[in-house]
Amino acid sequence: MSHYRELLEAAVSGGYRFAGFDRPPRDKDLFVRHDVDLSLEAALEMAALEHDLGIRATYFLMTESVFYNLLSPVGLRTQRQLRQWGHAVGLHAVYPRLELDGRFDPVVAWHNPDPAYMSEPVAGVVNVMEYPYFDSDHYRSDSNHHWRSGCPHEQLARGEFEWLQLLVHPEIWVFEGATMRETMLSMLEAKRELALEQLAEDRIDLS
Ligand SMILES: [Zn+2]
Ligand SMILES: [Zn+2]
Repeated sequence: MSHYRELLEAAVSGGYRFAGFDRPPRDKDLFVRHDVDLSLEAALEMAALEHDLGIRATYFLMTESVFYNLLSPVGLRTQRQLRQWGHAVGLHAVYPRLELDGRFDPVVAWHNPDPAYMSEPVAGVVNVMEYPYFDSDHYRSDSNHHWRSGCPHEQLARGEFEWLQLLVHPEIWVFEGATMRETMLSMLEAKRELALEQLAEDRIDLS
């Protein structure tokens, strides 16, 4: 995660302020957005790093993920810990279902959205991809291990963006790998170790 740390430090030295989706963008705002698709453990690790650096981000958690369960011990711990560290927590929703309960701030990021509804306003909540929080000049995403328009860290250090929404998937930075496939295999290896421990805790005889 040293590259991610560098990215954050570049933003700090470029004079950016870490903002949440509770008010429209202003000059020098950096909206750090994390869509948590695959691993709560990775989210926690990233959140801890940000906390160390005194940085506040917004984590978008899923309630219907096939990869994790918010009601599990680690799910509850993640929500508690993110709040304790001062991060915001929004819903990473699967269109069109949107059940925002008290666990979430009134902010939504659709998971793998189609262009048809991606930027459509949603009644009563902020959609992170709607105006004024999103336009292509003020948005960078690390999707599938590559920055669509190059890594923004030099530009951040030089303060070139008026303001920016930065989408960072924790899994891509926390697990090692030069490609998405390698990174996913590292993640699966870690998940396998964890699952073995969980089986033992569940009194499964692995002898
Ligand atoms: Zn997603
Ligand atoms: Zn970089």
